[in-house]
Amino acid sequence: MLEIKVTKTTTPKAKPDENNLGFGTHYTDHMFRMDYTEGQGWHSPRIEPYQPISLDPAAMVFHYAQESFEGMKAYRTAEGQVQLFRPEKNAERLQSTHERLCIPTIPVEDFVQAVKALVDVDCDWVPSAPGTSLYLRPFTIATEPHLGVKPSATYEFIVIASPSGAYYAEGLDPVKIYVEDEYVRATPGGTGFIKCGGNYAASLAGQMKAHDLGYSQVLWLDGVKRKYVEEVGSMNCFFKIDGVIRTAPTVGTVLPGITRMSCIELLRDWGYTVDCDTRLSIQEVMDAAHAGKLEEVFGTGTAAVVSPVGKLYYEGDEVTVNDGNIGEVTQRLYDTLTGIQWGVLPDEKGWIVKV
Ligand code: PMP
Repeated sequence: MLEIKVTKTTTPKAKPDENNLGFGTHYTDHMFRMDYTEGQGWHSPRIEPYQPISLDPAAMVFHYAQESFEGMKAYRTAEGQVQLFRPEKNAERLQSTHERLCIPTIPVEDFVQAVKALVDVDCDWVPSAPGTSLYLRPFTIATEPHLGVKPSATYEFIVIASPSGAYYAEGLDPVKIYVEDEYVRATPGGTGFIKCGGNYAASLAGQMKAHDLGYSQVLWLDGVKRKYVEEVGSMNCFFKIDGVIRTAPTVGTVLPGITRMSCIELLRDWGYTVDCDTRLSIQEVMDAAHAGKLEEVFGTGTAAVVSPVGKLYYEGDEVTVNDGNIGEVTQRLYDTLTGIQWGVLPDEKGWIVKV
């Protein structure tokens, strides 16, 4: 159990308009901070007024990108209760990120306590307009001033919070996807299965290319053969082909999404056959589309929850999924997950943690 010292702001900010929040532009009044020093471990957990952080220009995070992050949300129910969705899964994923990057791990219960404590202090910042939430961004940075390549001797773990607008203000809207066959996101033995900033920096060129060509997201293929589907933008990707639901295995190059694992559980409960162990080639997807058997394609992630894919472009060929309509499975997953998150549906799976 952390002993968190709380220092409240004496100059609270004005709250933004809940109906015009956007994503990632407003920040709450406070932040959680905790330091790591070699020999001492993680120490000095505290909540402070939200403020810029001061770092030595030689801090290792700036040079060798030793940093990790998570993304999760706090939701306000109609009754005013504030709650989190499977926060221990984010804690576990942060641990695997830390292990891969030689950053000391943070105990799951300390992570959850830190997040809950910040949301509690800033609970007035959890919006209540439909579809809105408080996005939480826990992250760790290497702070030792040192220019040699090695694991840092000091770190800082920080949690900031950002009230965010509804992803789909006017209901689910199918997106156009560009299947990227030049740039890759991840390779075996690399860092595709963890959440580190470098993965996202490396994805920008492909993302910009897709945008310039009129597509909203990239579908990433595997980095060795450029043959198997992996992820779509910063979401996991599901395909319903001839009644069977397929998604890429998380074997080292795919981020194990918390929405992904929740969708797999729900789909199996509902009696669907889900294959998340066999790799799926882009050719199979395109062939299924041409044979009229590509029934649904959707991305899953914390931000959008479930995002239907309407069109796929691959090497000169553009196919439309399900005549551009939102599939039954896509809609049911979206309604069920958002229902549980905002407390409209009962939490039968025990996924909700109240703040
Ligand atoms: N893949 C990538 C690359 C992501 O950045 C994310 C967002 N964290 C996801 C998948 C979906 O993960 P989650 O469902 O945990 O948000």
